[in-house]
Amino acid sequence: MKIRVLGCSGAIAEGSRTTSFLVDHDVLVDAGTGVGDLPLEALAQIDHILVSHSHLDHVLSIGLLADSVMRLRAAQGRGPIQVHALPETLEALRKHIFNGVIWPDFTRLPHADKPVLQLVPFAVGEQLALGGKRFEVLSAAHTVPAVGFALQGPDGWWVYTGDTGPNPALWQRLSTMTVTHLVIETAFSDEEDELASLSRHLCPEKLGHELAQLGGSVDVHITHIKPGEVDAVMAEVSALSTPHRVGALRAGQILQME
Ligand SMILES: [Zn+2]
Ligand SMILES: [Zn+2]
Repeated sequence: MKIRVLGCSGAIAEGSRTTSFLVDHDVLVDAGTGVGDLPLEALAQIDHILVSHSHLDHVLSIGLLADSVMRLRAAQGRGPIQVHALPETLEALRKHIFNGVIWPDFTRLPHADKPVLQLVPFAVGEQLALGGKRFEVLSAAHTVPAVGFALQGPDGWWVYTGDTGPNPALWQRLSTMTVTHLVIETAFSDEEDELASLSRHLCPEKLGHELAQLGGSVDVHITHIKPGEVDAVMAEVSALSTPHRVGALRAGQILQME
């Protein structure tokens, strides 16, 4: 099993793409701008998209991807791409994106009975078996209904927090799992900790409190830093005292889990 980081930035600029991970060739975790770097043939192989929440930086490529691969997938006889998310997130996509104004309703195109997208609700705590892989939906604490995901590997779980502020429920759940990799957001520097609280994101100081609730010694990958702020945020993160191995996640990074 292989996880490829297509994007891990909090916003866009040259070389910075927003959040998306490709698991093997067929499952996408979030659909930020990084998706657009994949060749068309690779895009057409994506059968599932797991969506952490409705914010634009995580959903922007869903509609564009549907448009790109609709013809090719139909020609290859492939079924709809399943978009998995909380009911509230799916409702937001339906109402605000696939509404015929911002974008066509690809849950009814090219044919209502054979669409390119299918919206599939999940709940926090649910286990999903997708493309031979096992995911668990984790809680997150953000300004809109949001989740994180855990993906089971041979030695333990790869965990992605999604966008989240402090979230005791997450650490409670993870205390019963073997975590090998943790991808956790740190969207703001400590200077902007008020903004971090308001927008329910983490800053390095809050990250320190969160990581203190994670047992063992884990490979921790920091994500969702804004372009231009990586050095400043990582300097503050490096000053934390923690038993974990903490580094910045990079676009293009590939994690082999076997
Ligand atoms: Zn968000
Ligand atoms: Zn975000």
